[in-house]
Amino acid sequence: MSVLVYTETEDGKFKKAAFEVASYAKEVAGGDEVVAVSFNATDASELAKYGVSKVLNIQNDKLSKFNAEAYADALKQAAQKEGSKIVVVSQSANSKYLAPLLAVHLNAGYASNVMAAPESTDPFTVKRSAFTNKAFNFTKITTDVKIVGLSQNAFGLKENEGDASVEDFSPELKDGDFSVNVESVDKAKDKVTIADAEVVVSGGRGLKGPENWGMIEEMADILGAATACSKPVSDMGWRPHSEHVGQTGKPVASNLYIAVGISGAIQHLAGINAAKTKVVINNDPEAPFFKAADYGVVGDAFEIVPKLNEKLKEFKAKNA
Ligand SMILES: Cc1cc2nc3c(=O)[nH]c(=O)nc-3n(C[C@H](O)[C@H](O)[C@H](O)COP(=O)(O)OP(=O)(O)OC[C@H]3O[C@@H](n4cnc5c(N)ncnc54)[C@H](O)[C@@H]3O)c2cc1C
Repeated sequence: MSVLVYTETEDGKFKKAAFEVASYAKEVAGGDEVVAVSFNATDASELAKYGVSKVLNIQNDKLSKFNAEAYADALKQAAQKEGSKIVVVSQSANSKYLAPLLAVHLNAGYASNVMAAPESTDPFTVKRSAFTNKAFNFTKITTDVKIVGLSQNAFGLKENEGDASVEDFSPELKDGDFSVNVESVDKAKDKVTIADAEVVVSGGRGLKGPENWGMIEEMADILGAATACSKPVSDMGWRPHSEHVGQTGKPVASNLYIAVGISGAIQHLAGINAAKTKVVINNDPEAPFFKAADYGVVGDAFEIVPKLNEKLKEFKAKNA
């Protein structure tokens, strides 16, 4: 039996989520084979480092932009060809769109927001987060084929020794697979997107105005981070809406989240609960965010952030 993974690419390059689902699949597979399906990947053999031993690489211009129906159809054919009983996908927006379609095609049970390797494989039981990480549940999947949606950064990357064979794979796609098509993509100009970022530096109303974002952008540059903000900041037009995080904005699952001048309202915390380490800089020691923080600095952001940026630059220069 093999475990199948959907490995996401952007402009031919694997996203970090692709390596994470491969690492996870290797753990689930035990001694069995991990087979990846990639779409127009430029170097499919990169997946070997994360435990994949076979890649079914699809090269098809019609699939150069994500298409949930067509991708789900291709993955179904790959799972059937390989006899895979477990399929692992990430929890990116595209994977969340695709997974239920794939579940219908394969008559499979689908568990989303999975946080760890299965608690048991017989019965197949996984730990899942609920209510934006405020609670967990243990879900049993009893269908013959099982689909696991792995939460971002929940398992991490695990490197393995080994080689992967790369096969061309040409699934038979129907006209119906292309009834909904992405015509064009207008990308946000950010260097790192919030969804893919390892580090997110976020600013709130405590920064007083858009003219003060230079120090936030500088910190993000030093750390290779994405910038984000609270809702009022984007509502007031200080920052673009694409940066708004929280219950009504984007979710953050980065390894590090640095919040500057953000009070920590429940609706903001709802979006960042899944971030691993939270650092809060706020001049009010009673700010609710400190209760959710791993590290807190009480003080004026306009003094602390420039000093911190200098220290980070020095550290980076020494450790380059
Ligand atoms: C239905 C609903 C949905 C919502 N969804 C979201 C959401 O998705 N995301 C979201 O963010 N909010 C959301 N909100 C709004 C939320 O309730 C808060 O109002 C908002 O998060 C507050 O933003 P803030 O922390 O930037 O501003 P404030 O609450 O004004 O806090 C500013 C903070 O900055 C600190 N500060 C001030 N000056 C300095 C300084 N010089 N140095 C350091 N710290 C300083 C203050 O102590 C304060 O804690 C939602 C609200 C509702 C009702």
